[in-house]
Amino acid sequence: MKRCYKCGQKAVVFLKHHRIAFCREHYIEWYLRRVEQTIKEFRMFGKEDKLLVAISGGKDSLSLWDALYRLSYSADGLYINLGIGEYSQKSLQACKNFADKRGLKLHVLDLQKEIATIPQIKEVEKRPACSFCGQLKRYYMNRFARMHGYTVIATGHNLDDESATLFSNVLSWNIEYLARQYPVLPESDGLVRKVKPLVKFTEKENALYAFLSGIDYVEEECPFAEGASSIEHKKILSQLEEKSPGTKLRFYMDFIRKFHALLGHKEVRLRPCSLCGEPTVSEVCSVCKLKEKTNLKTLSSLPNS
Ligand code: SF4
Ligand code: ZN
Ligand code: ZN
Repeated sequence: MKRCYKCGQKAVVFLKHHRIAFCREHYIEWYLRRVEQTIKEFRMFGKEDKLLVAISGGKDSLSLWDALYRLSYSADGLYINLGIGEYSQKSLQACKNFADKRGLKLHVLDLQKEIATIPQIKEVEKRPACSFCGQLKRYYMNRFARMHGYTVIATGHNLDDESATLFSNVLSWNIEYLARQYPVLPESDGLVRKVKPLVKFTEKENALYAFLSGIDYVEEECPFAEGASSIEHKKILSQLEEKSPGTKLRFYMDFIRKFHALLGHKEVRLRPCSLCGEPTVSEVCSVCKLKEKTNLKTLSSLPNS
């Protein structure tokens, strides 16, 4: 039987790659301390910042919101209702229950009112759903945060997400994407600062934190997640992790600490979209182009136009 490294009680968690075991109480303590260390290491934000947490109803985002709340940061949640059938309904309910239980403020943004649901857009857009869904979430998250005076957007990206993205960017030697892969993206030209305080935690560690903290999260995956190439990359990395615990953390953190700075900082020139005014690299932003394509909302009713 493994014993908690801190108090000697029976351990409920054994973290192979850290070679450490914890009881419930000390796992939560360890997790919170590590979140705080990550925030400080990358100078993500301070107690004076007004945070908006991107909430999906899953283990990562709810664990993040819970940790920020316990660490006394000022953090409200934003749930973007993507309109993906039962999955979205269940997720929204989980977010509402979570916020109600803790007396936290949850904003809900309905994608259908802004443009259309993800399944509706999928009918006219050939690309995989995740590619335009990601763009839409980033666009509305940023716009909402800026309009409501939030200084930082926090997302629940975990080590599995980040190492899989890194793996994919290395496979294609996508220097531009590699340069942007960092736990903090500073504010610029209409873009609110974005941070990822959970980059050092695996999916499993977040699930453990959620479970041991009594968080009711949605276990079901989005139906569009199936077949995404990131799943294959995650599988490969998990096989390596199984053989050599600590591989994911080393792969990602060594890139961040030793390699990222060598890539240099290339300033991307942004300008306001001629239709909606949101920052973009081209004349018309990708969301306005998508709106035109889906033709589900007239351009004249666009905000700021
Ligand atoms: Fe959107 Fe893809 Fe995530 Fe589903 S899996 S919520 S489609 S990004
Ligand atoms: Zn203990
Ligand atoms: Zn636009």
